[in-house]
Amino acid sequence: MMVSGAESNLLHARSGPLTADLVQSPAAFGLGQVPQRLSPDGEARMVCGFCATGCNLRVHLRDGQAVNVTPDPNYPVNLGMACPKGWEALTPLQATDRATTPLLRDATGQLRPVDWPQALDAFVENFQRIQQYHGPESVAFLSTGQIVSEEMAFLGALAKFGMGMIHGDGNTRQCMATAVTAYKESFGFDAPPYTYGDFEESDVIVLVGSNLCIAHPIMWQRVMRNPHSPKIIVLDPRRTETAMAATHHLALRPKTDLVLLYGLAHLLIKEGYLDEAFIAQNTEGYEAFREHVEDYAPKHVAALTGIPEANLREVAGLIGQGKRVSFWWTMGVNQSHEATRTAQAIINLALMTGNIGRPGTGANSITGQCNAMGSRLFSNTTTLLGGHQFTSETDRQKVARVLDIPVRHIPDQNSWAYDQIMEGIGEGKIKGLWIIATNTAHSWMHQQRAQALLNKLDFLVVQDMYTTTETVEMADLVLPAAGWGEKEGTFINSERRIGLVKRVAQAPGQALADFSIFRLLAQRWGVGEMFKKWTSPEAVFDLLKEVSRDQPCDITGIDGYDTLEREGGIQWPLPDALRNGHLEHPAKERRLFTDGKFYSENQKAKFIFDVPRGLPEPTDEQYPLLLLTGRGTSSQWHTQSRTSKSKVLRKLYPQKAYVEINPTDARRLGIRASQQVEVVSRRGRLHATAFLTPTVACGQVFVPMHYAKANQLTYPEVDPHSRQPAYKACAVRIEG
Ligand code: SF4
Repeated sequence: MMVSGAESNLLHARSGPLTADLVQSPAAFGLGQVPQRLSPDGEARMVCGFCATGCNLRVHLRDGQAVNVTPDPNYPVNLGMACPKGWEALTPLQATDRATTPLLRDATGQLRPVDWPQALDAFVENFQRIQQYHGPESVAFLSTGQIVSEEMAFLGALAKFGMGMIHGDGNTRQCMATAVTAYKESFGFDAPPYTYGDFEESDVIVLVGSNLCIAHPIMWQRVMRNPHSPKIIVLDPRRTETAMAATHHLALRPKTDLVLLYGLAHLLIKEGYLDEAFIAQNTEGYEAFREHVEDYAPKHVAALTGIPEANLREVAGLIGQGKRVSFWWTMGVNQSHEATRTAQAIINLALMTGNIGRPGTGANSITGQCNAMGSRLFSNTTTLLGGHQFTSETDRQKVARVLDIPVRHIPDQNSWAYDQIMEGIGEGKIKGLWIIATNTAHSWMHQQRAQALLNKLDFLVVQDMYTTTETVEMADLVLPAAGWGEKEGTFINSERRIGLVKRVAQAPGQALADFSIFRLLAQRWGVGEMFKKWTSPEAVFDLLKEVSRDQPCDITGIDGYDTLEREGGIQWPLPDALRNGHLEHPAKERRLFTDGKFYSENQKAKFIFDVPRGLPEPTDEQYPLLLLTGRGTSSQWHTQSRTSKSKVLRKLYPQKAYVEINPTDARRLGIRASQQVEVVSRRGRLHATAFLTPTVACGQVFVPMHYAKANQLTYPEVDPHSRQPAYKACAVRIEG
């Protein structure tokens, strides 16, 4: 690989005291400057870097500096709207705790600044030494849904094809693995079928475990634009902001969703609300499913879920009589101990009523992170690039041919999932770990154990924008990375729309785009030749297009970044044939399965079901309350490593952790409003302010996930199919 002159300068400058060249900003090497093609007083339109809604923002430039943003009124996603995080998108770039130089832990245990050549040496020497003693699989990586697809692909290819790692997963395991598994098993490919226009076209909208108002506020605005006065049905144990605005709220007992969904299927069958032609032509497994849900009569379901029979019947009637019914789910489903089967129970309702492939319908998973969907296709973690299989010789041959690498470099086995990598550390099988743009020490379940495991590593590398995350503070080596707005590439949003991210600001100090870090590491590791075509994000986009050829996610019809800009983002798939054969411009809104054909071998969707299981950690005398976790406000994002940097956003939510308690429980426990309390689980305790509210039911409490110690409480359990953590429910008590 030929590195650029700028990267070469960084690579070949010698270690020792920081040289004058290296002390300078990478802008001196041309790595951080605002690109020439942007006018210094113009604007750049780009996709927001927080959530997977994928709003487009206009970044306004004055004298070459990005000064503020406004939402793009012409983009088909947000139509001129943005949530508080979007308006504050530039602020996290100016934080005082930005990582501006590589840091290496010295013999006294202190992280000390080093230059890039020293950092690259430390990375390569430590990881290669570990691999030499313990095998190539003893070093693993944990990636993210926050970097562009081209960087995800580079990371996955470099780690697995170049460095010989077998195991690598993403923090997308924590949010989207369930939807991936459910879709793959039911539809034959990880394929969310919808377009945001469906929010506006439904006459019945069913939201399961989704507080859309808070978690995806612009999607909620699309619901508000629906001209059909839709019935909005919310399934959620809490009376969330969304539930308050809904026409119907089923406040079921926590984690009884699977029972309730089977109960609705039972009623739809009994009342004859079926699309029998669709079931016969386009699905398989219906008869067995029908027999399975025989057991879920309303009386039984009401007893288990706490939802009165009359309400069950009313909601089943609304779904059955609806002409365009859309079903939506997110983390309330995905983060549970039987998450995959719950997601598939939602899919089953859409299939049996023929609510898929038409406007206003669908079994629709709403995604979390800005590029979780890119991770699902192109991160090279659990699936080989482009939704291929590591275990398929044909797939490995195809990817090797496109990338022009020997096929023997592609592992023929699947990676361990995130939890297995963490447990692998405990078992001494993983000795080196490379974490990129995620905060494992805060966000992983059962936080103390997660931190103890990270402490066991021989060498921990963290590549991040900031020096103050809990995970960076544990690192042996910190690689300073550019953030959103300081580099370019593409994101894929929830509705499969590929959109552009641009460089409008300089990364501070010696921070580099992740893309440049991967190029330097490839060269220093000795595999630069393997990545000779990976010269720029757009060059990698071309490779990814070719990798996607003939896959359900085929994007060979997208010419390049200019086309994405001109068309306002493009949803996958867009194969050459579709573009050249039929369309002058791709339609702004396209949904999948309009012909009733799915991606399985026989082109049919499958009914998949299972027997529900009880809570992994039910309440008892010692821990009598059930803790629910979730998003607190629209102004907080995950572990707050970015949103906490904005004064404006910080004013929009309580700075200290709080716990929502039902007033009846509070009275019984003698707890007053705003009292300082301890939320205690078998694993740890959280100091919090008591917030008394009837929006949580008696016997339940709620804590937002954004506060540092929330995951000291959570129970370490994963869904057996998707291996996604079950963050949503565990047993706690409140101490006054
Ligand atoms: Fe950004 Fe999501 Fe807010 Fe849109 S809804 S502005 S994508 S954080």
